Amino acid sequence: MTRKWDIVIVGGGLAGYIAANYLAKTNLSVLLLEKGRNVGGRARTNKINHQYFNLGPHALYKKGKAKSILGELGVKLNGKSPKLACSLIEDNMVYTAPFTPSGLLSTSLLNWQERIEWAAVLMKFNWIDTESLAEQTFQQWVEQAAKSKNVQSLLYILGRLATYCHAPEKVSAKLMVSHLKTVMGGVLYLDGGWQTIIDQLHNNAVISGVQVQSSAVVKQIAPLEHEHFKLILTNGEEIHGKYIICTTGPQELNALLGENVNLPYNSFLSQITPVKGATLDVALTHLPNPKQLFAMGITNPLYFSVHSNYARLSDDEKSFVLHVFKYNHPDEHIDEEKVKNDLEQFLEKLQPRWRKYEITSRFIPQITVNQRLPQIGDEQKLHRSKTDIPGLYIAGDWASPDSILSEGAVSSGKQAAEEIIQREKR
Ligand SMILES: Cc1cc2nc3c(=O)[nH]c(=O)nc-3n(C[C@H](O)[C@H](O)[C@H](O)COP(=O)(O)OP(=O)(O)OC[C@H]3O[C@@H](n4cnc5c(N)ncnc54)[C@H](O)[C@@H]3O)c2cc1C
Repeated sequence: MTRKWDIVIVGGGLAGYIAANYLAKTNLSVLLLEKGRNVGGRARTNKINHQYFNLGPHALYKKGKAKSILGELGVKLNGKSPKLACSLIEDNMVYTAPFTPSGLLSTSLLNWQERIEWAAVLMKFNWIDTESLAEQTFQQWVEQAAKSKNVQSLLYILGRLATYCHAPEKVSAKLMVSHLKTVMGGVLYLDGGWQTIIDQLHNNAVISGVQVQSSAVVKQIAPLEHEHFKLILTNGEEIHGKYIICTTGPQELNALLGENVNLPYNSFLSQITPVKGATLDVALTHLPNPKQLFAMGITNPLYFSVHSNYARLSDDEKSFVLHVFKYNHPDEHIDEEKVKNDLEQFLEKLQPRWRKYEITSRFIPQITVNQRLPQIGDEQKLHRSKTDIPGLYIAGDWASPDSILSEGAVSSGKQAAEEIIQREKR
């Protein structure tokens, strides 16, 4: 039997649930299909041995669009902001990061001239007109913004930390700097992990009449006449929808549409490169070095942070949950064993003999953090591709022209829903 819906949302991650929540306020019928057994996508949290593991380190931006949209939808966020006190690691040297006033005064990483240059860059940061950076890569911007190599390194570290992008020669300066500005407004680590966001969005959607079907893998999206669509699931089921919001990645969207749909921008979609990394998520009974809570590599693109120091991430509230992460370059060949070893060694340097206190750990060698490495010119192409097939909307962390990560997922989910609501009013 073919089921008919006003709106079918493909994907039960942040973007799909945000769209579902806005559409739930209308009298349109909404079906959300998620291929996984559990909903949440990359915002899900796994409970392992009484510890709550996000899929790698997750921080929500206090001044970001996502937080304000979640607020609009009544989502409650509990958690704390991590302190900025950070160590910077180069080979066997540990430097205090100049990310706080005391760090700036005490660090041995910078000489006095470099400290002045760094302080000046930071002070000017909020006043940068990001529109003027539209034609530059992040590397070009960094080289103009600072003369000293050490100050440039600090900008690369902050860029990586904020965006997870580790390809300054490829990424758009406009997007990198504007995202960095948002991140510099502070972040929150969430009690119970990001699943708490998904759970609230899911419950609100279901209570308002949205039907959610998990383990439902969409195999094909076929446009029909009169701006309707037929979706075919891998179990053979057929579903009809007047509007589709697709929140899969761009390559998956291309595959779902198949070759018979000639999207003028499908070549752009197929060229989009994801931002990837490796994560080592660890729970310990004891923190060997309780003073070392946050560290980054200087040349080595590595990250370490004890998230449970700020967020409740275990049932007993005594154990520690931390994340060690490696930012991948898009052209890099990944040797998974070596990456695992690098992450473990980095952790050993910061928390010696951590193995002795290990409750559990999880290594994910290649995870997509953002579906799109933001490059110069993406904005125009993404904007136009939205209307190529009437009735088909895209959302997800890659689909927003001017934002990435949860900012992109949440804002594009809202936008897709609003565009449908507007169209129905006409
Ligand atoms: C290690 C890591 C760290 C991160 N850190 C941060 C951070 O600090 N701050 C931040 O803002 N963001 C962070 N993010 C990014 C954030 O998690 C994502 O941007 C966001 O969750 C993406 O949501 P989405 O809905 O766009 O995509 P997804 O969560 O990927 O959702 C898409 C859903 O579609 C489903 N799907 C795909 N194909 C089909 C199909 N054919 N049929 C049915 N369903 C399908 C998938 O199963 C998935 O559930 C991080 C991500 C990772 C991995």
